[in-house]
This record gives sequence, structure tokens and C-alpha cells, in this order.
Amino acid sequence: MSHAAANDSLQDGKHKGRRVAARSGHDIIECAHCGFKHALPLPRAEDMERAYREDYYASEKPTFLARAGEDQDWALLAQTDRLEIFESLLPPDRRRLLDIGCGPGFFLETAMRRGWLAHGIEPSRQAAAHARGLGAEVTEGFFNDASAPALGRFDVIHLNNVLEHIPDPAHLIGLAHGLAEPGGIICVNVPNDFSPLQIAGMTAAGTNDWWVAPPHHLNYFDFASLSNLLKKSGFTPAARTTSFPMEAFLMMGENYVGDDVLGRACHNKRKKFDLAFEAAGLKETRRAFYRALAEAGLGREAVVIAAKA
Ligand SMILES: [Zn+2]
Repeated sequence: MSHAAANDSLQDGKHKGRRVAARSGHDIIECAHCGFKHALPLPRAEDMERAYREDYYASEKPTFLARAGEDQDWALLAQTDRLEIFESLLPPDRRRLLDIGCGPGFFLETAMRRGWLAHGIEPSRQAAAHARGLGAEVTEGFFNDASAPALGRFDVIHLNNVLEHIPDPAHLIGLAHGLAEPGGIICVNVPNDFSPLQIAGMTAAGTNDWWVAPPHHLNYFDFASLSNLLKKSGFTPAARTTSFPMEAFLMMGENYVGDDVLGRACHNKRKKFDLAFEAAGLKETRRAFYRALAEAGLGREAVVIAAKA
């Protein structure tokens, strides 16, 4: 890597841009080539896949499976929101869905209950086994050049918290485009990073830019850069939404960064917030609230739904 100190611009091959953060031996640049922020150096795909293969759920997130299950009453809200958007954009005979990085399979389960033919691909053995236990058809492995062609063709391709982890998001979206039927849909969910509320929360709590987490998180998107990536790959954005702006807790004095107990308490509050709309029969109000936040570029996650021409 060559360093150009004058304007703090870094370059590594085709990747070039201003440094916006640095942590754990990685710089994060605003890459002019890729159109989004990402880490330098980037690991090779095979090295990353090896690191993930056996120990992601076991060693990095031992509570993930248990917590995902106990959150399902709440997670069902966002899952249903997405499926209803897909169903509004597609004719009723087009219900084949691929969930790339399906994790323990709860989204697949919700889709199947609504009549979707749902297939998952997931590298974690434990998560794939859990998803199969829910009745889903799951390919165990990474979504890549080798595995993609055998999966078939789909009306919806869903990527939940995948793109931030992989060395080449444009390549993966291109592969997904190849599996999408004409008029099919892609739905991508990533953290909404370097957002104004993160900056406000960091300032209020006196913390660092905690969301910068290489090599676990290699890429840092917002609504604009995610939409542009999808456009470059031949998808036309049709809808966007988000989830509760967790940074608001920091702005209100609840510094949950590095505090798992407080973080869990804040998470439980946002679950209550979302479920309170349901209890009051105000589902569409909750949806409008998150659509409006997303239009303003705010919210914890960037969720973009786009159609293949
Ligand atoms: Zn780049």
C-alpha cells in the first residue's frame, strides 16, 4: 500500500480514497472505485471464508442462536414488512426466495408460513442445521462462484447482514443478479454506518467510532452507497426502510458501547417501541415512521429493495 500524506488519501491497487477511520491494523477509506467505505487491506475471500467456517457462531457470538430465538416475536415484524413489500411487487405465482446467509432460518420460516418456496445458503454448520430443523431447505456453504450456479433461479434474493462482512460486495451482488429472474427483487440489509446519529451519539457519549470493526466489518454502507451499488449491478431501487435508531440511546445518555447489559436493556426498549404500534393496531404507522427515517438517511440499518429490469 502506498501512503500519500498530503491529503490522507490511501491506495491499494484499484482501491483509492480518503481515510475516514483506522482500527485493528486496518484503515477505512471512502473508496472512489467501489463507491462505498471499506477496509484496507482487504482479506482474500478464501482466508475470510476459512476464518468464518467453523467458529463464527461458536466463538464470536455464542449467544446468537439463543437470542435470535427469543427475539423472534419482535423480529417477525420486520420479516413480515419485507415479505409484504415483495408480495406487493410480484405477481402471486412468483414466490421463490433465496436467503443468502440465512443464519438460523427464522426469516425462511416466516416466508414459508406465507406460502413462499424458500431456500437458504449459510456457511455456519450450527446455523444451517437450526434452519433445517425449522423445515427450510438449506445449502451449507458460502455463496460464491462455485456454489451459486447450483442454487437455481429466484424471484427474491435476500441478504441480511452479509455485505458488510465480505471482501467484494460488487461481485456478490453480480452473482445474485445472475440468479434473479427478470423482474425479480433483491433486498439488502446492512448497518447504516457513519450516519449523522452515530456522529451525534459518539459526541454525546464521548466514545470513539465504535461501529468501525475490521476485520469483522469490512464495508460501511449508507442508503446512497448501497443504492448505487445495486444500480451498478443492474437493479433499480424501489423501496427503502430501516430499524430503530439505536444511537438515540447514546444521545439520551445511555452509553451502551461496550456494555452488554445496558445494550441488551436498550434493545429490549426498542422491541417494546416497535411492539407498542402492533398492540395499538398501528402497524402502518410504524412502517411509515421507518420509511420516513430511511428517506432522511437515518435509522440503525439501511434496507434497500430493488428490482431487476
Ligand atoms: Zn474499493
